[in-house]
Amino acid sequence: MAQLEIRDLTKSFDATEVIKGVNLSIQDHEFCVFLGPSGCGKSTMLRLIAGLEDVSSGQLLLAGQDITHAPAAKRNLAMVFQSYALYPHMNVRDNLSFALKLAKMPQAQIDAKLARTARTLGLDALLERKPAALSGGQRQRVAIGRAIVREPAIFLFDEPLSNLDAALRIQTRLEIARLHRELHATTIYVTHDQVEAMTLADKVVIFNGGRVEQVGPPLTLFQQPANRFVAAFLGMPSMSFIDVTVDDGSLRLPGGLRLLPPAALTLPAAPGSTLSLGLRPDQVSLLAQSTPQALPCTVEVVERLGSDTYVYVSVPGAGPVTVRVAGDDPVAVGDQRWLDLDVSRGHVFADSGQALYHPAVH
Ligand code: ADP
Ligand code: MG
Repeated sequence: MAQLEIRDLTKSFDATEVIKGVNLSIQDHEFCVFLGPSGCGKSTMLRLIAGLEDVSSGQLLLAGQDITHAPAAKRNLAMVFQSYALYPHMNVRDNLSFALKLAKMPQAQIDAKLARTARTLGLDALLERKPAALSGGQRQRVAIGRAIVREPAIFLFDEPLSNLDAALRIQTRLEIARLHRELHATTIYVTHDQVEAMTLADKVVIFNGGRVEQVGPPLTLFQQPANRFVAAFLGMPSMSFIDVTVDDGSLRLPGGLRLLPPAALTLPAAPGSTLSLGLRPDQVSLLAQSTPQALPCTVEVVERLGSDTYVYVSVPGAGPVTVRVAGDDPVAVGDQRWLDLDVSRGHVFADSGQALYHPAVH
């Protein structure tokens, strides 16, 4: 049975509907990441699950029990916020044990839990300190520890790494991954950062404007995005899109070049239909010379990252395209080059945005 079952969930603030009918199952022990752009409703979803907001309609079932209208304190869920929300006047020991004392747990049991949690999170040496005397990363570890001691049915994280600097964000991300391997606790983790989603999740749920766009393992979403939104949202640098017109069994590009569609792609019946060819930077090649199948382009920006170089080119009539080339490729801004397009290496989307074709995965 799913640990958490979300059925037809909606939420409106006054007349504005921000969650527009979400159905979702989160399994026992699963690390589920809610990913989407700012304002798409991720935090609202988490607050509805936690009971910090009332649902407008729909149902929440935790281990089969209807918790839709249960008070937050009765849901056995623990939330870790971006802002940490530690008690500033209490030291780490008291911050960690506060909820257990409130629940009237015997002191010996509290001490044992505290010792175990402090050891797991490397907080032993910091127990007497107040939050003001801790670094951002240490504060976040205390906030996580405060959730762990409660042994909740589900951990809820809302952008827990956003206030950390880049190096600490990576370190804490690895720590959260390790904690999940150790505790094996069901987790819902909200982020707008695709790297966090790709590296932490068993299952990613992509949100957009209060709706779910796609649910699946990270690599499946990356390789087989259900639509243009997911395709564009996942992947760095982003997928490039070129509009093509269906013309007598081939795909016509701006400028007149015709490409053969892959055999596995069923072309729309209506002649003149527009499709969108989606190419990740490694699904297109940059040529130094023209060929009959290549599109002329101009190099606008060159980003050298060391082992790889990303080249941003403009294609007359087709817009910008990003191409990955070797780190030591001598390409320079202003160069005239040619894009070698092979539709079967890329993705094809219908005018509606729905995916029609993905390249085979090797
Ligand atoms: P995310 O966490 O994905 O950035 P949120 O869930 O915070 O997005 O917000 C989703 C939408 O709901 C936003 O348009 C936001 O302005 C709106 N919203 C969130 N909370 C409230 C509230 N208490 N009152 C009115 N609108 C809200
Ligand atoms: Mg948010």
